[in-house]
Amino acid sequence: MDALTSLVVHRTRLTSMSGAASIWRKMSKEPDLPSPPRQAYSGSLIERAAIYRSDEAKLTTLAQDVRAGVYVIGGDVVVLKAQGAELDPLFSPAEAHALGAARETVFLGLSDGAPRFGAGLDPAAVEPLKARGDLKLIDLRTIAVQGAVTTEHVPPLAEAKAVLDWHARHRFCPNCAAATRVTQGGWRRDCPNCKAEHFPRTDPVVIMLPIAGERCVLGRSPRFPQTMWSCLAGFCEPGESIEEAVRREVAEEVGLTCARTKYFSSQPWPFPSSLMIGCHAEAVTENIVIDRSEIEEARWFDRDELSLMLTRKHPERLTTPPSIAIAHHIIRDFVEHGADVLVP
Ligand SMILES: [Zn+2]
Repeated sequence: MDALTSLVVHRTRLTSMSGAASIWRKMSKEPDLPSPPRQAYSGSLIERAAIYRSDEAKLTTLAQDVRAGVYVIGGDVVVLKAQGAELDPLFSPAEAHALGAARETVFLGLSDGAPRFGAGLDPAAVEPLKARGDLKLIDLRTIAVQGAVTTEHVPPLAEAKAVLDWHARHRFCPNCAAATRVTQGGWRRDCPNCKAEHFPRTDPVVIMLPIAGERCVLGRSPRFPQTMWSCLAGFCEPGESIEEAVRREVAEEVGLTCARTKYFSSQPWPFPSSLMIGCHAEAVTENIVIDRSEIEEARWFDRDELSLMLTRKHPERLTTPPSIAIAHHIIRDFVEHGADVLVP
């Protein structure tokens, strides 16, 4: 019996006992599951060493360091060295240059003292590389889902992809339309005409699980795989707090009113530049009214059903998102701790 199944059985026994709810609340402080698999893109070991970004001479020295490594990205795909079954995302600066001229290069920071850079190639320039037997080109979502590279490389790849995507979309000044130039080791674009300074953007997205007692609401986007259900999510709007965005998005997407909200954790999501802000929210109404322009379906699930979905044992084969995604961990936290997830 694995841990989650054991949890379901254990809970069934508890809930049949008098006063079980209070026992469960007491017990639920202790985790019932083994450590969850890591979500992707966060947990970077890179020291960003931002102090060097304005030091051109230092950046040149770092680029010439024998330990320097470059992540090479073209649009959505990452270029990887294929050495037998091993896929290595790090190229020496000379190897990276040989793959093609980078439109932009970003100093990502230091990995145990070794300089790390991200090089952005035009998507058209990486197309011919697909034919080479010594290379593999894989998009960053697939890399994370398949565990195609060792986990230490995934956060710096996310860092590189997010900044390089921003460069690709911001080569002209939004203020005066002049061509801008890269400065600060790739962390700023300056306009020579109006002198505006432009910084990489991060777009906050709230991703939340409305809960009421032992139940919560999941939804389905039309773009999801047929059997997958997940948390609700939406962009924070200007002038809005995280809590306000959570309540507004839940109200808009499924018509529920939420009271308390509780921050869970966050995850960089470089598609292209989001920061997922995970929350639980206390639903104080029950009737779901779906906004069909946003989601396809939404309904209440209890914790036992969620356990079966997390372990891929649901009789209708319904699933939650994979563990690379923060949604998996938000749902899992509710399965483990119930309404305690809302306790400050
Ligand atoms: Zn300008």
